[in-house]
Amino acid sequence: EGIYERIAAVDGDVKAFLALNKEEALAEAKAADERGYGDDAPKLNGVPVGVKDNILTKGLTTTASSKMLENFVPTYDATVVCKLREAGAIIVGKLNMDEFAMGASSETSYFQTTHNPWDLNRVPGGSSSGSGAAVGSRQVPATLGSDTGGSIRNPAAFNGVVGMKPTYGAVSRLGAIAMASSLDQIGPLTITVEDNALLLEVLAGHDPMDSTSFTDDVLDTNYSAKLGQSLAGLKIAYPVEYKSDVIDPEIRAAIDQAAQYFEAQGAIVEEVSLPNTEHGVNAYYVIMAAESSVNLQRFDGIRYGYRSPNAKDLDDIYVMSRSEGFGDEVKRRIMLGTYSLSSESYDLYYKKAAQVRTLIREDFEKVLADYDLIMGPTTTTVAFEIGERSEDPIEMYMADLLTVPANLAGNPAMSIPAGLNSEGMPIGMQLIGRSLDEATLYQVADNFE
Ligand code: GLN
Repeated sequence: EGIYERIAAVDGDVKAFLALNKEEALAEAKAADERGYGDDAPKLNGVPVGVKDNILTKGLTTTASSKMLENFVPTYDATVVCKLREAGAIIVGKLNMDEFAMGASSETSYFQTTHNPWDLNRVPGGSSSGSGAAVGSRQVPATLGSDTGGSIRNPAAFNGVVGMKPTYGAVSRLGAIAMASSLDQIGPLTITVEDNALLLEVLAGHDPMDSTSFTDDVLDTNYSAKLGQSLAGLKIAYPVEYKSDVIDPEIRAAIDQAAQYFEAQGAIVEEVSLPNTEHGVNAYYVIMAAESSVNLQRFDGIRYGYRSPNAKDLDDIYVMSRSEGFGDEVKRRIMLGTYSLSSESYDLYYKKAAQVRTLIREDFEKVLADYDLIMGPTTTTVAFEIGERSEDPIEMYMADLLTVPANLAGNPAMSIPAGLNSEGMPIGMQLIGRSLDEATLYQVADNFE
């Protein structure tokens, strides 16, 4: 009940939620109370969680913030939602995002723009915009986001919260509306590091319905195992590319200060190089658009989703439904993607991008053979003003510079709060780990908190 009072008081300004699940949630809260909160209660008993609107929730609209799915009500829950419910968590409502997770500000949402709770004139980041802002404005303690090129970490940084993109394959993608299938991962955004680890312990695990999920003999889901352990002797890499002058000087200073803090804790911090960092965004936008264009083919105006009322024949159904149902950014990426996959440009674009992806993965492998983790900023700037970049896609894409490499390589990466800049806006620090080694990231994040 208190949660919905808080939402009523705050969300008129922040606009994080698209739909509330009040009736069901209150019934579940009652059931949680009846189960009690003793040692044998389920792990997340009674914990209110908000869910990004590209994650299917049975009986509750799931729109991906698109006109295409404006009235879509799923008939089943995503695996992650099932797992939350089994652990006793309560689904509070659905959260605004960039349309089909394409953007970094919520401005591509068909329904509304979410505002940054630290400064309502600024964007909350994206594409998990509502997921970041709802936690940042303390409407809920935890949310689910999805991260294809930074969409959990970017809003975590902009809203001063903790966000984890797990290792690719650690969390089931069944029931997540696919953007780019080789990059997408679902993960938690929370106020504290410990909460984040506990949530991921519930979310991760093999799903027989997702062939890209790791089997349980490979996964160690004891993510809170190292919380509270000393950092003495830990080797941390701070890449020179993450200190470049495209990074806002105040952010650079905050990360430098964090490096000094880690050294004071007994960790060894050294400069390394990830030479292909600057090619990440280029490779990402080719691969992501190619995969997205294929995934979006299912929206044909026939099986589900928007169908143009003006269509007169089959071709009209396809063309008019897609023309009217998708927004500009989605169309831009479909065109980019189908172009790079066409026979005359495949070698030049898609294949090249796939090669760059391998180089980026090798960069990480080399450094992480000698170091336990990599540190750096999450974003090059703090949250920018609403409208500032919405007319210039390339400017918007630059928000992803530091986050896309971990998606291309598959490594786990998180953003944690690293103080405020002189305007009082949150700064995010990114920690990138070895494949499947989220536990060390949580250890370092918890110590820094
Ligand atoms: N800003 C990135 C993009 O627009 C983030 C996408 C994502 O992670 N879903 O592609």
